[in-house]
Amino acid sequence: MAAKQVDIAIVGAGFAGMYMLHRARGMGLRAVVFETGDGVGGTWYWNRYPGARCDVESMEYSYQFDDDLQQEWSWSERYAAQPEILRYANHVADRFDLKRDIRFETRVTAAHFDDAGGLWHIETESRNGGVDTIAATHLVMATGCLSSANVPHFEGMEDFKGDWHHTGRWPKEGVDFTGKRVAVIGTGSSAIQSIPVIARQAEHLTVFQRTPNYAVPAHNHPVDPEREAWFKAHYKELREKAKQGRSGQLYSVRDLPWGSEPLETAKAEFARRWDLGGFSYLGAYVDLLVNKEGNAVAAEFVREKIRETVKDPETAELLCPTSVIGCKRLCVDIGYFETYNRDNVNLVDISKDPIERLTEKGLITGGKEYAFDAIVFATGFDAMTGSLNRIDIRGRGGLPLAEKWEAGPRTYLGLTTVGFPNLFLITGPGSPSVLTNMLPTIEQHVDYVSDIIEHLRAHGQTTIEPEQDAEDAWVDHVNAIAGGTLYPSCNSWYLGANVPGKPRVFMPYPGFPAYVKKCEEIAAAGYEGFRLE
Ligand code: NAP
Repeated sequence: MAAKQVDIAIVGAGFAGMYMLHRARGMGLRAVVFETGDGVGGTWYWNRYPGARCDVESMEYSYQFDDDLQQEWSWSERYAAQPEILRYANHVADRFDLKRDIRFETRVTAAHFDDAGGLWHIETESRNGGVDTIAATHLVMATGCLSSANVPHFEGMEDFKGDWHHTGRWPKEGVDFTGKRVAVIGTGSSAIQSIPVIARQAEHLTVFQRTPNYAVPAHNHPVDPEREAWFKAHYKELREKAKQGRSGQLYSVRDLPWGSEPLETAKAEFARRWDLGGFSYLGAYVDLLVNKEGNAVAAEFVREKIRETVKDPETAELLCPTSVIGCKRLCVDIGYFETYNRDNVNLVDISKDPIERLTEKGLITGGKEYAFDAIVFATGFDAMTGSLNRIDIRGRGGLPLAEKWEAGPRTYLGLTTVGFPNLFLITGPGSPSVLTNMLPTIEQHVDYVSDIIEHLRAHGQTTIEPEQDAEDAWVDHVNAIAGGTLYPSCNSWYLGANVPGKPRVFMPYPGFPAYVKKCEEIAAAGYEGFRLE
C-alpha cells in the first residue's frame, strides 16, 4: 500500500520536469517531482566540466511559455556556458516557486503499474538511504536523453591512484588541474569543449582518441544589446519560425538540393557558413544528410580546415574524421583544433590499440604505460534509454520496460509505450529530441501530455495507452525515415553503438515540423492510435 498519492509524479527536475510541474499545477493537479541531485537543471546540473556550454544559441535555448520570463532574462554570450544556464534554471524554479514540490536528493528506484487499481506505485530512495513509496495516476519520465553516464569498465579502475572524473558527473566544487598530468579519454562534444580549457590549466594533457570528430567553430562572443533588444521585440515570430526548422532552430537551411549549384559556389557557401559558426554549416544544402556526394564535399572542407589549423601534419591527419559529417552530432568548438599546437598537449590514437587497463600510475594502451595525476572520462552517455532502463519500471502484468525494450526501444510518438498506461516519456526514443533544440521540443511534449490529461478529465476517463498497431507502425515509420538518411552509417550514440551490447536502433526521429504536425493530427482525430478509458 502506498502511503501517499498524487495525480502526477515526475521524474527529473531538468527543463522537462520543471515545465511539467508548472503545467500540472496550472491544471490543478497534485504533483511531485523526484530529483537525484540537490538542485534543478538536469543535464546542466551534472555536466559542470570545464568549458561546458550549449551548442544552441542562447537566445533560442530558453523557455517560451511565458513572455515575461523570456523578456526579463538576459544571456551574456552567443553560446551560454553551463554556470549561466544553471542560473537560468534556478531563476525559473524560483520565479514559479517550483522547488517546494521537488524532492531533491531522491532517486526513483522502481515504478510498478497496478492493473487492478490503475495506479503507478513508485519507490524512492533518498540520499540518506530512506525508502519511501507514493502512488500516482500519471507518471512522467523527464529523465533526459543524456543523463546516464557511460563509464567504460576498464580493468584496474580501482588500482589507479590519481583522481578520475566523468564529464557528466563533474564534482560541484570543480577540479583543479594546475600542475597536473591529465588524460582525456574520448573526443566527442564534451571532450572537444573541455580539452582547450584543461590544456590551459594542466601541466600536460594527453588526449586518447578512438574516433575523430567533426567540429565547426562557435565564433562565440558577447550578446550584442541591440541584437538582444531586436530579438526580444520579435520573439513571437522568431519562435514560430524556429519551429518550422527541421531541428527547431533558426539557423538557415537553404531549400536547395546538392548539385543545384556549381562546386565552386558550394565551397563558397561552406566557407560563408564556416565563418558564421555553429550548426548552420550543415544547412548549406537541404539534403546533406541524404546525399553522399554533397556530404563528402562538406566533410572534406572541414578536413582542410583541420589541416590548415593543426601544425603537425601527423596530428592533423589523426584528427581528420572520415565518416559522414553530421551522422554523429556536429560539435561546435572554441579553439579545439588549435589546442593541439600547444607544447603541453599530445594526441594518442587508440583506434587500433584500445585502452587495455588502468594501472596504479595511469593506463596502458599499445603495450605502453602512460602516467597521469588525473583521468577525465569524456566517454558520453547511455543515451535515450539508459536512464529509463536503470529504473525498475514495470507495466501491465509486471512486464519490465527493460525487457520489452530488449531489442531496442518501441514507442508510439516517442512518448508512450504499449503495456505502460499513463506513462509519458518526455523527449523519448522515437521523438525528435536530440536532433533538435531541446527546449522547444520539451515544451511541445509537455504541452501534449498536458492536453492529453485535460482531455481525459474532460471525458471522465483516467487512462491512456497506445494501441499495438499504432506503436508498430510508428517504429516502422521512424526506421524508414532514418533508413533514408546517412545517419545509420556511423557508430553514433543515436544508434546506441557507443555502449557495448546495446541494440543498434536509430532512436531519435528526424524532422521536428513533420513530427509536430503528426502529433496535432493524432490529437485532432481524438487521439488516434491510443486507447482511452
Ligand atoms: P560522445 O559524443 O558519445 O563521445 C564520447 C567519446 O568517448 C567518443 O569519442 C568515444 O569514441 C569515446 N569513447 C567512449 N567509450 C570509449 C572507450 N571505451 N575507449 C575509448 N574511447 C571511448 O559523448 P559526449 O562528448 O559526452 O557527447 C554526447 C552528446 O551530449 C553530444 O553528442 C551532444 O548531443 C551532447 N552534448 C552537448 C553539448 C553542447 O550542448 N555543446 C556538450 C556536450 C555534450 P567513439 O566515437 O569511438 O565511440
